[in-house]
Amino acid sequence: MTVTKTTKLDIESLIRPAIKALKPYSSARDEFQGVSDPMVFLDANENPFDNGVNRYPDPKQRTVKSILSDIKGIPVENMLLGNGSDEVLDLIFRVFCEPNQDNILILPPTYGMYEVLANLNAIEIKKIQLTDDFQPDVENILSKADKNSKLLFLCSPNNPTGNSFTSESITELVNNFKGIIVIDEAYIDFSNGESWSTKLEEFPNLIVTQTLSKAYGMAGIRLGICFASTQIINVLNAIKPPYNVNELTQQKAIEQLSSKEVTANQIKTILEERTKLVSELETVNYVLKIYPSDANFILVKVDDATKRYNQLIDRGIVIRNRTTQPGCDNCLRLTIGTPEENEVLIKTLLLISES
Ligand SMILES: *Cc1c(COP(=O)(O)O)cnc(C)c1O
Repeated sequence: MTVTKTTKLDIESLIRPAIKALKPYSSARDEFQGVSDPMVFLDANENPFDNGVNRYPDPKQRTVKSILSDIKGIPVENMLLGNGSDEVLDLIFRVFCEPNQDNILILPPTYGMYEVLANLNAIEIKKIQLTDDFQPDVENILSKADKNSKLLFLCSPNNPTGNSFTSESITELVNNFKGIIVIDEAYIDFSNGESWSTKLEEFPNLIVTQTLSKAYGMAGIRLGICFASTQIINVLNAIKPPYNVNELTQQKAIEQLSSKEVTANQIKTILEERTKLVSELETVNYVLKIYPSDANFILVKVDDATKRYNQLIDRGIVIRNRTTQPGCDNCLRLTIGTPEENEVLIKTLLLISES
């Protein structure tokens, strides 16, 4: 298939009329931000007595964003933060998808949240299954898209398969899909591949999402990241709940993001453990296939996924049974744990092969 770069998409025309007309809520902290002098803040009806959280949080999360901007190499103006990437994804739906009219494209087997959010927002879902080696079926995807196809979700590295999509197929999709492409990079920090967030200028219809929930070890604080053109970021900012990232989350993110070495070492250990686990899984006689992983989990095909899943549960180990997912017959998804946890997993897997 030839790659024909379409004329630059008019992003404005993809935005819902109601969103374009919206006048955002203006919070007290939006209207005035103290910068230098100590100010007396009597504008937001807060309790004035300091306990660390008596003030509303920064609605623009400027400190967190500037740290993330340094780490990721993306300007603050191209960044939006959310209460987990799930909130970010929901905001994207609300900007671009007109309920009961528009549709989205997803590529099963993939992250379940796209479908939930589409249903929640009354948006039709077009499913185009990944190929046998879990790559996007580019021609099929483009032929299924119509004038109401506003979003195409590419999860790369993909959950639950673990692989990344080839840059050729992503490039072809970004060049030819006439809506917004959302690349979900929740697992990018476990991959050797480059983030698409560096290509926002080249592709104005691109949105990249990341999260602090996986490699950064902060699933509990709920902080999701969105990278996009300033045009898209400005619209998302206009519709987000004003104080969507709470003070405790912002403080904890600032604290944790300063320990870069700790995170880097943890990622290194997880990747070493992934390699080790793969070679050990090869010795388990009912493991029929180990899929290549760019993430912190491994998808394996076994003889009987539900039987093996239950055997592990009985021995106190919880993994994810993915056997009902398209293309994932008898597949189990194993998250990489600590070295000790992985040892328990592999011992147990070997033990149950006798039963
Ligand atoms: C875990 C995960 C996320 C993270 O969502 P948060 O709301 O940021 O915790 C996003 N996308 C995929 C594909 C995931 O697996």
